[in-house]
Order: sequence, then C-alpha cells, then structure tokens
Amino acid sequence: MNPFEIVEPRTTAEALAFLAADDPGTRPIAGGSALMLMMKSGVFQPTRLVSLRQLEGFSSIDATPEGGIRVGAMTPLAAIECSPLVKERAPVIVAAMRRLANVRVRNQACIGGALAHGDPHMDMPPLLSALGAEAVVVGPAGERTVAVIDLYVGYYETVLAHNEIIREVRIPSLAGRLTAYLKCTTRSADDWPALGVAVNLGGGENGISDARIVVGAVTEVPTRLVGVETVLNGKKPDAALIAQACEAAAAEVSPMSDARGSAAYKQQLVRVYVGRAIRAALHGVGH
Ligand SMILES: Cc1cc2nc3c(=O)[nH]c(=O)nc-3n(C[C@H](O)[C@H](O)[C@H](O)COP(=O)(O)OP(=O)(O)OC[C@H]3O[C@@H](n4cnc5c(N)ncnc54)[C@H](O)[C@@H]3O)c2cc1C
Repeated sequence: MNPFEIVEPRTTAEALAFLAADDPGTRPIAGGSALMLMMKSGVFQPTRLVSLRQLEGFSSIDATPEGGIRVGAMTPLAAIECSPLVKERAPVIVAAMRRLANVRVRNQACIGGALAHGDPHMDMPPLLSALGAEAVVVGPAGERTVAVIDLYVGYYETVLAHNEIIREVRIPSLAGRLTAYLKCTTRSADDWPALGVAVNLGGGENGISDARIVVGAVTEVPTRLVGVETVLNGKKPDAALIAQACEAAAAEVSPMSDARGSAAYKQQLVRVYVGRAIRAALHGVGH
C-alpha cells in the first residue's frame, strides 16, 4: 500500500478545504468499512483520507417538527437501529437494519457512507429512496439537497463531486403510510441482497394512493417502479391487483446478472418479492 495522509478536521469548512474536486485519491472516510476493503484489495489507493469523525452535528438523530427524522451522516447504522425515535417514526428502517450485514459492520458503518458508497447491492439506498428521503450535501459552492433516489447515476457512481460531503439525511413524516422492506439473499440471511424491495403506500385496504416502490441490487442504481405504482394507485389491493403489480414489476425491470443470481433468476425474484412486499406493507408486517 502506498503511503497516504489522514486528516481529522473539526469543522465542515476545514474538511472541504482538504478535499479536491480534481483528485479522486482524496476522499472523505466515515466508518471505513467499504474504503478499507477497497484499499486492501488495491482497488482504491488514497493520497489523503479526510475523516469526518470530529465534525459537529454529523452524528445526531433528531426529530423534525414536521414529524420526520434528521440523521447526521456520521451516525453509525447501529445507533439508527437502536434509536427510540427511529423505532417510533420509521420502524421499517429498524427492521431493515437487523438484516444488514452484522453487528460489527453496523457499529462501524455510518449512514453517509451507506449512501455515498454507490454499491448497488446495498439496503439503505432503495429503502430511503422509497421513503422519499433527501441527502443534504455540502461543498465549496454551499449546500444542496438531493433526493436519495437521485444520488445514483451508475455502478458505484453518484452525483457527488469529489469535494462534496453528505452532511445529513432527512426522512419525511411517515404518518399514515404503509411501509415494508424485503430483502432476498441467496447466501446467508444477512448477506448483501440479491434483491431489495421497498414499498411505501398511502391509503390502505380501501384504495392505494401515492405508491412508491423501489428495487435495489437488481439494477445498477435503485430503481423506482413507476409502472407498478400506476397499476396500484387508486385501486383496492385485492389478490388480482397484486398479481397484476407483480407482472408489471417483472416487465419493468431489466435485471443485471451478478454473483448472487442470473438476470432471469432475479427477474423471477422481482415478480415474487414485489407482491410479498406490498402484502407486508398492507398487513403492517414489513417492519
Ligand atoms: C462484510 C460486509 C457486509 C456488508 N453487507 C451489507 C449489506 O448486506 N447491506 C448493506 O447495505 N451494506 C452492507 N455492508 C456495508 C456497506 O457495504 C458499506 O461498507 C458501508 O455502508 C459503508 O459505510 P462506511 O461508513 O464504513 O463508509 P466508508 O467505507 O468510510 O466510505 C464509503 C464511501 O463513501 C464515501 N463517504 C463516506 N461518508 C461520506 C459522506 N458523509 N459524504 C460523502 N462521501 C462519503 C467515502 O469517501 C467512500 O467513497 C457490508 C459491509 C461489509 C464489510
């Protein structure tokens, strides 16, 4: 491994000054659970790592007056999993954490890293996309807010510039919403997903409204299934409608093959799991 520098700024301004738009070898480091593996394998050779650990306001979980949650980017996944506020306002996130890697990884990895890494085989990007969450991003030009679903542009590619940092994630109020996240793994239960399906529905048994369905791990970026949402919106969710939604999902997604399943296998997973996730949300068992 080549020698590199690691710096621990105390303010956001200092952190931004250490980053460089034109130097991919200079990167922020959060929990390091992904970066260290990339460094050990030689995929990433840093010149400078900018630790975000000391930055004020980056590690808290707060209620917003609108009924949502604000999570600082350096909040460990385990702290989110154990937060009474997250359990009360977004139990679907707590449930998803329980099958995300293992306790050791969840103690180390932070929510900002879980979003910025850009690996398509992750659980938080599709789930937070379906919940309508936003990332607050800071850079030399100031602050901008990016919907989580819009963070991703390709395989391990995000819209973040090399000198931008996610400061926090904002999750809107989920009052009255029906939510579920189902993960299918083809190895151990806590493995990286072969498919993740996140469902966030308005309405209920008498008629669905404002459905948001997002899949992860089958496509290069978390993908909103707009066709499935159109099938569901304004209708009573009976068995025939859910079967129609499953077929629409399989038709809408062009899965990629990877170590966790062929494209054809994943297409069938989508067909089956979209229905299961909708039912889980409707019956309140998705969290
Ligand atoms: C064995 C193992 C199994 C795993 N299984 C799963 C799984 O099943 N599902 C799942 O979702 N995840 C899983 N993960 C976790 C996931 O892959 C990442 O390792 C983790 O989310 C990265 O978080 P981190 O804080 O450690 O980020 P780091 O490793 O520190 O950083 C990752 C990337 O994000 C950037 N970054 C970090 N924070 C910020 C920020 N605030 N602003 C801008 N850029 C930032 C870094 O520059 C780097 O490019 C697993 C990890 C391991 C090691």
